[in-house]
Amino acid sequence: MESRLDLFINRMVSQRACLDFAADATKDMSGPVFELGLGNGRTYSHMRQIMPDRDIYVFERAVASHPDSTPPEDRVLLGDVFETLPAALKRFGPTAALIHADLGGHNREKNDQFARALSPVIEPILAQGGLMVASDRMYFDTLTEVALPPDAVRGRCFIYTCT
Ligand code: SAM
Repeated sequence: MESRLDLFINRMVSQRACLDFAADATKDMSGPVFELGLGNGRTYSHMRQIMPDRDIYVFERAVASHPDSTPPEDRVLLGDVFETLPAALKRFGPTAALIHADLGGHNREKNDQFARALSPVIEPILAQGGLMVASDRMYFDTLTEVALPPDAVRGRCFIYTCT
């Protein structure tokens, strides 16, 4: 059985591997990149580093990130994602090239319920050919699951695409 330390390390390693893979696979797409859940800003910091020239918008209900990983105000969509994502669909249309979601907490059951509720809200926003990287299994009708890159740990990260 995996210890909590194993679970944590596997999640971090998988997030990095999946973000690196998704950034490279979508590098020629012009649509925005969405980070759902800023938290401490670790994954945002990595995304900025690997995608320095791309427009990264951050969705977060309360910004409390490390000062080095705090996005500019005009790149933050502040509020509950169940309100800010539909607003982003109106603003950007179905154009997101890469969506990364890390919105969960420690309770797996709650995370799963949250992912079920969030899936139909995310689904219309991803551009054709775009990728969605999630820390939790999502429940999409039209987006399909993509094989993980070699360094990612199965079950710790998920990637979906819009065909
Ligand atoms: N990926 C981040 C990092 O590397 O530091 C960690 C993200 S943390 C696990 C989850 C974040 O999602 C929290 O900051 C929380 O405030 C945010 N969040 C959770 N539910 C949300 C919701 N419904 N709307 C907006 N933000 C939410």
